[in-house]
Amino acid sequence: MKIKLPVFWIIYAVSAAAVFGINIWLKKPGGNLAAAGLGILILMARREYGIIQQRITFVGALACVAVMFLYFKQLSPQIALGLGIIFCAVYFFSASSAFYLNNLTAEEGKLNDRRDKLKEEKEGRISSAQLEDDIFEKEIKDIRSLYEAAEELGSSLNLGETTERTSEILKKIIKNNFKIPLEEINFLIIFKKEHEYRIVQSFGYDDEQLKGNEKAFVNAVLKMGGKNQAHFYVPDMSKVPSENGQIMAMNKSMIYIPFIAEKKLLGVLFISGSRVNMFDTKQVDSIRILSNQIALSLEKVHLYEEVEKLSETDSLTGLYVHRYFQEKLETEIKRTARYGGKLSLVIGDIDHFKAVNDTFGHLAGDYILRTVAVILKNHTNELDSVARYGGEEFVIVLPDQDKEKAHAKAVKIRKEIEKYPFKYEDISIKITMSMGVAEYPGDAIARRSLIDKADKALYRAKEEGRNRVIRA
Ligand code: GH3
Ligand code: MG
Ligand code: MG
Repeated sequence: MKIKLPVFWIIYAVSAAAVFGINIWLKKPGGNLAAAGLGILILMARREYGIIQQRITFVGALACVAVMFLYFKQLSPQIALGLGIIFCAVYFFSASSAFYLNNLTAEEGKLNDRRDKLKEEKEGRISSAQLEDDIFEKEIKDIRSLYEAAEELGSSLNLGETTERTSEILKKIIKNNFKIPLEEINFLIIFKKEHEYRIVQSFGYDDEQLKGNEKAFVNAVLKMGGKNQAHFYVPDMSKVPSENGQIMAMNKSMIYIPFIAEKKLLGVLFISGSRVNMFDTKQVDSIRILSNQIALSLEKVHLYEEVEKLSETDSLTGLYVHRYFQEKLETEIKRTARYGGKLSLVIGDIDHFKAVNDTFGHLAGDYILRTVAVILKNHTNELDSVARYGGEEFVIVLPDQDKEKAHAKAVKIRKEIEKYPFKYEDISIKITMSMGVAEYPGDAIARRSLIDKADKALYRAKEEGRNRVIRA
């Protein structure tokens, strides 16, 4: 309850007037003390203390009035009037100073509030500017790594190498730019090879499982792309019905990006995450931009391979191309079958060639391939056919030569490569080659199985420590 000052003055005035009247008649000054107490209490009430003090003041004031009446015989009208005037003066003085004081305090409060608000606003702006700055910087970094990735991709003309690089770039971007631990993602790169979609790169999958179910995986992924074959992101796989439950069960979210050239589906990049909402829209955008670059590189590789297929020789090494080698081997086998005799096949693979690329660069790698091709040519005669079988794999068809002769020739080549002073831009590079030798008809009579036998021998050469020639 708030006690209003006028109430006290009315009570005081009425009581005092009644007491004055009676006191004039009786002339006794006893109630002056009570009158003074009443005035003080009124001033206290004006000061607007807490509710308890106000109540005490109110009760006290009532008590004073009661005392005034009890001792009205002793109240002196002059003293009561004097006290009243003094109280009034003190009241008005305190009221006006309190008024100014209150106003000032209120103004100060307002100013303080305003200052706090401005401070808050300023801090907010600084931190949001900083945030914007960080985002901006991150975006620049992202764009730069995408640009670098694109540059890196552009220089390769070999499918294996392109997809291998793509895989490395993807991992780098996901880990470094997206800050997503690699354990949380899997991806597959599917590419059309000889009329069939195959998994050419995989990450995070169990290789055994993938090998055994390659077709099922490929079909499950391609099915998701449907007829439209446009890119899409599913942040929560549980919200879309999956017909391929088992294969897709491990994926909680996924990105599907088709590689399309001339309206034909060249391949697909399929990234899946082990939790929902794995990627944000910016990240999906980055992957899409990168994928455009991948698609371009793949298309280039594809076109290159198409052109290569039409030509007989490989543009980097000048050796016969893979297709020509297959035809040549077939013809030689048929010829040997008809006229009798033996023929041998050597498959060689440069040891740790990936490390050469990684350490000295792709151009140094190309130089090695060209030089190895020259060594191979120099150590074979014009009836032998030397071809580039794959990236850093070579084959030699040796008509009319049995396994021992072929082996001796292969050993010579191996030794020559081992001691050859490869030098790229003044840097010496050591190169060795592992080889496998197989013979027709001793080891196999069909072309495919003959290649397989030589390949297995090569595999053993690798296993047994590389830089050696093994006979099937
Ligand atoms: P291994 O001893 O087991 O054969 O190891 P490796 O590193 O030689 O084998 P891997 O098959 O892992 O690496 C082959 C590398 O050859 C990968 C690819 O980058 C590289 N390569 C393939 N074609 C080309 C090409 O035309 N130019 C260059 N510079 N590198 C190529
Ligand atoms: Mg190889
Ligand atoms: Mg190799």
